[in-house]
Amino acid sequence: QERVVIIGAGQAGGQAAVSLRQMGYAGEIVLVGDELAPPYQRPPLSKAYLKGKLDRERLFLKPYQFYADNKITLETGKRASKIDRAAKTVQFEDGTELGYTKLIISTGSRPRPLPVPGADLENVLDLRTLEDVNMLKPHMKEAHRIVIVGAGYIGLEAAAVARELGLDVTVLEMAPRVLARVTSPTMSAFYQLLHENHGVKVRTSARLMELKGDKHGKVTDALLGNDELVPADLVLVGIGILPNEELASDAGIACKNGILVDRDARTNDPDVYAIGDCAHRPLVHYGREGRLESVHNAIEQGKIAAAHICEKPRPMEDVPWFWSDQYDVKLQIAGLSQDADQAVTRGDPTTGSFAVFYFQGDTLIAVDAANAPPEFLTAKRLIAQGATVSKEEIADTSVSMKDIMT
Ligand code: FAD
Repeated sequence: QERVVIIGAGQAGGQAAVSLRQMGYAGEIVLVGDELAPPYQRPPLSKAYLKGKLDRERLFLKPYQFYADNKITLETGKRASKIDRAAKTVQFEDGTELGYTKLIISTGSRPRPLPVPGADLENVLDLRTLEDVNMLKPHMKEAHRIVIVGAGYIGLEAAAVARELGLDVTVLEMAPRVLARVTSPTMSAFYQLLHENHGVKVRTSARLMELKGDKHGKVTDALLGNDELVPADLVLVGIGILPNEELASDAGIACKNGILVDRDARTNDPDVYAIGDCAHRPLVHYGREGRLESVHNAIEQGKIAAAHICEKPRPMEDVPWFWSDQYDVKLQIAGLSQDADQAVTRGDPTTGSFAVFYFQGDTLIAVDAANAPPEFLTAKRLIAQGATVSKEEIADTSVSMKDIMT
């Protein structure tokens, strides 16, 4: 009998299993993950779940029973250690082995390790998995002073929650502005002020040299490049992620900042697919390739791989999108702003509801919309069309988004 083996039971792997059945795959589906939980959504880990406002089961993509009902063999707590492409088998750390007709690699990513002395002290934590958060939550209750290393989305979302829980919060960012890797100076300034207004100490251009600990090995301070000591009884590290590509690269599958795949999510081995955070994929709206770290991407590629295996037409490739919740600001992002040569602001950031539109020439390529759903939705459609848009109209809030669309 035919068998699809899926390595990594996260957002992408879980989706692939579901889509394979929905699209009529009749063979065996084995979904193997090294975490203990069934596939779950990570976004609430730095938002509602961290705050204690969401039950564990609510994170799960599907209840356990779903997998049994759909004849999907879900094996959790089991880690793949090697792919043998000639024999078409996967080996696992528990000594077992499984043959495959098609293999899907959905191993996600892992936190980039903090490259300073003291990174291994007690109370220095990451935020990637449910277990990470279950460890972090009691610390957040007990701690008084948290230092968050890295002002990316995860770091800033955690900072917002920590403030809401009443902690003294310092965010350390090496770059001259927060969210520097992902957004414009206008958005960075908005978010820095938002956090400062909520009492967060935001330290940009701050170089962390070392974490200092007490005689019990528990963190006490962060030492900065200017010799300043920032006291901390808890440190959260959020300095980006690395794709889990080693299983593939060790098996001779082409990788370059992620496992290289084509539009059908296939690697250079026609029987092996890679999806989600670990995949380096064509970005059809941008005429280049890249690795995306988002729920949308994980779901889309899960569906694409399943469709290809089931010999169905490729599902539509949507404009990449993402969101972030901090305090009462919902940020919605469509497109990739990194390639922009101009940014145009619509609305007044001081009102808390505005958007930044990104252009390459006259073509709209991305939007960051803060508490501005119409701007997000319209821009997403325009980006998908590759539309040219008048920058004057975008900047003029008396022209509605509806009128800009037509
Ligand atoms: P994952 O969901 O990470 O799943 C990969 C799984 O594979 C993991 O369980 C991993 O342990 C397992 N695995 C790895 N190696 C092996 C192995 N050898 N054997 C077996 N199993 C293995 N995205 C958004 O769009 N919006 C958000 O607001 C947002 N917020 C986020 C907040 C947090 C705190 C985090 C961590 C992520 C957030 N993301 C958000 C990103 C999003 O969750 C990821 O892009 C998405 O989970 C990627 O799915 P994936 O299946 O590729 O990886």
